[in-house]
Amino acid sequence: MRDQDVTRRILIIVIMVLIVAVIVLIASLITRGTCSSVVNNGITPTNVPEPSSLIIDVNSSELPVPETAHFNTEPPVTEPIVPEPTAFVTQNPLQPMHPSIPQSPYPAIPYCVTEGTFQDVKDRLELLKQLPRSETVILLDVGHGGFDGGTVGIDTNVTEAALNLQIGRMLAEQLAAKGYFVFMTRMGDYAVGSDKNSDMKWRKQVMKLEMFDASISVHQNALATDRSVRGARIYHYKTGTEGENLAKTIIAECLKISEYARPNAYTGNLMVVREPICPSALIECGFLSNHDEELLLQDPNYQMQIAKAVADGIENYLNSK
Ligand SMILES: [Zn+2]
Repeated sequence: MRDQDVTRRILIIVIMVLIVAVIVLIASLITRGTCSSVVNNGITPTNVPEPSSLIIDVNSSELPVPETAHFNTEPPVTEPIVPEPTAFVTQNPLQPMHPSIPQSPYPAIPYCVTEGTFQDVKDRLELLKQLPRSETVILLDVGHGGFDGGTVGIDTNVTEAALNLQIGRMLAEQLAAKGYFVFMTRMGDYAVGSDKNSDMKWRKQVMKLEMFDASISVHQNALATDRSVRGARIYHYKTGTEGENLAKTIIAECLKISEYARPNAYTGNLMVVREPICPSALIECGFLSNHDEELLLQDPNYQMQIAKAVADGIENYLNSK
């Protein structure tokens, strides 16, 4: 009996093991089938192309479309804007800060370039040297820059160098709009030499070139001992010179925009009016030591008024010759 019981128990165990094995097998088949279907769903050609094709669609549709759009819109919309500086456009977008500048007859030499490195400045100078002498070329000396900030505003700490550049750029465009080629001694916030001496030496070398029809140096004034003093002043080297005539025609235009401008054309043994071979003047646009004028000189609208006045004065002088 015991042997039969043992055998029966063994058979039961075997049967149960078999049953369990069958169940496990069936379960594994079912599971494998489910897994394979999931895997298939993820791998089958019907599903794979979806994500991959979506990605391709995104790449192939989004990339070309904006590019095409750019190509369609850039030539008419952005090309006229690209060569123009934008530094002061954003300060007052409501004002037409940029005059219409005609196309230069020399494709490589636009009438003005107002932004660039010192190397760009030197390259520009070499290009302008190639112009026939019949063209009118204005030397626009933008005072200070880089380590040499010049005069500093007493109340706002604005640097003369920054204002010289802002007004200088506007002046360059105003002159270019009149059909004059303009050379700026600097087109960014940097000095044109490693120290003050080399900076001045380089400017002097430029001023000695026989390629300019008029020279204008842009600076800001200051008189800390009397903060009530304000107004634009014009300087030239000596009386009885063409520089004096240039200075007088410029200040005449400045008087139209400011009651504080000094009507006199002052003489001064200053490098920027002494050294240029061509008729030359120095415009001190205003006093950074005067509270109101320090603020006014930072107003793009007033800066533009000054630039227009100086450009008109230079034009009047050139037309009078
Ligand atoms: Zn200065």
